[in-house]
Amino acid sequence: MNPRLLLAIYLAITLAPLGLSAFSGRPARSLWDELASGAGMLAYAIILAEFLLSGRFRSISRRIGMDVTMRFHQLFARSALVFALLHPFLYRAPSKPPYPWDTTRQLTLTDDLSAIASGVAAWLLLTPLVLQAIGRDRLDMRYEVWRLMHGLGAAAVAALLLHHTLAAGRYSADPVLAAVWIGLFAIALASLLSIYLVKPVLKRMRPWVVDSVRPVAARTWEVTLAPRGHGGLRYLAGQFAWLNIGHGPASLFENPFSISSAPAAGNRVAFIIKELGDFTRTVGRIRPGTPAYLDAPHGHLCVAGRDEPGIALIAGGVGIAPLLGILRQLRLDRDPRPTLLAYGNRVAEQIVCRDEIDDLARHHGTRVIHALQEPPPGWTGHSGMLDAAFFRDHLADPGMREWLFVICGPPAMMDAAETALIGLGVPARQIICERFRYD
Ligand SMILES: Cc1cc2nc3c(=O)[nH]c(=O)nc-3n(C[C@H](O)[C@H](O)[C@H](O)COP(=O)(O)OP(=O)(O)OC[C@H]3O[C@@H](n4cnc5c(N)ncnc54)[C@H](O)[C@@H]3O)c2cc1C
Repeated sequence: MNPRLLLAIYLAITLAPLGLSAFSGRPARSLWDELASGAGMLAYAIILAEFLLSGRFRSISRRIGMDVTMRFHQLFARSALVFALLHPFLYRAPSKPPYPWDTTRQLTLTDDLSAIASGVAAWLLLTPLVLQAIGRDRLDMRYEVWRLMHGLGAAAVAALLLHHTLAAGRYSADPVLAAVWIGLFAIALASLLSIYLVKPVLKRMRPWVVDSVRPVAARTWEVTLAPRGHGGLRYLAGQFAWLNIGHGPASLFENPFSISSAPAAGNRVAFIIKELGDFTRTVGRIRPGTPAYLDAPHGHLCVAGRDEPGIALIAGGVGIAPLLGILRQLRLDRDPRPTLLAYGNRVAEQIVCRDEIDDLARHHGTRVIHALQEPPPGWTGHSGMLDAAFFRDHLADPGMREWLFVICGPPAMMDAAETALIGLGVPARQIICERFRYD
């Protein structure tokens, strides 16, 4: 889906209730009362749209990337929180039974405690929900536990707010607006159900099994899966999957990893996984034959269909995983375009699949520049980080201005690469990135 169309759909969802209220024909109230209702409606509409943004819908993330999608999810959640916090404090009208002559509740707010109580409960729940997500790293809590709490908390807020909006909302007395709220809530619920109910069923129908686990660098493993009873996965080189190894298809124990294999290489899929936390530290102990499930393919880090005259791949650390998949595919396709791989690590032992990369350089003609922060004696590659100076030195060739640049690695390296490329006059549409962290 075109990003502009995505934006238009997003705006339509979040602004529809406000627009319908504005044209409801009800007599206007004081500016503060209208602002209060508007803030509440905006907050609720944004919260409902959050379910779509976090719902792993390919039509969204395929165009703008999962990292950007999740960044929007986080930023919109913060704005929803601000609108929600303001909502009760902006009202000026008194909360009391309606005057007999004021049938549209122009002058008073509802005093129905049950209608207010659901709003207060949601209001109280929303702040810790957002703050907990912002400070997740500082919590002594497993990612999966946080994710479960976040999902359940968000569903509770959405349900409480539906009750509050329909019971207390002045404009929701209009059956059209009430139907819109119910419809938006149903869509949000459906996106939750699609992840936790529909996807597990689909995954169960397409099981995988661990074929091999091999070390490819210090504390880094390549895990290969084989399809069990089906033809495999249709994906593009550079995409990623949510991988679940050794748990049932409905398990919350699944992590995103880039696919490092090339679709043209056959129906096995491979992942390069660096030890980091609870799951990744156990990867080296996974036995062949262990069942696995994939939620895939996701992501937009793909060169398929791009017609730039050359491709530069810029990788830092385990960010090599998707780029290796792309290089492997380009080689199998015998793609004639020039390729460059700039690959940074701290020490030589961290270079993933070094022999294969050397082989690519020899046979596919890829120009490879290894960069090491702590090079060993006699190191012939670049010494230092992939930083602004490196990019200015190695990517400034005017002939490369038309190339496609694919970037994956630590945030600081990615920021430096993007800034340097833009500074060198490379248009933003020729730069594609995938971040391994959403925050
Ligand atoms: C699109 C994408 C592609 C990635 N590709 C690779 C790759 O090819 N190779 C590689 O080694 N790493 C990759 N990562 C990072 C990898 O997902 C994390 O290192 C891994 O999930 C950590 O899990 P853990 O249980 O070992 O650590 P934990 O201590 O549980 O988590 C460490 C951090 O990893 C992130 N994380 C953990 N679980 C999830 C989850 N289910 N969803 C989203 N984020 C999560 C969170 O930010 C968390 O704080 C990728 C991440 C993303 C988003």
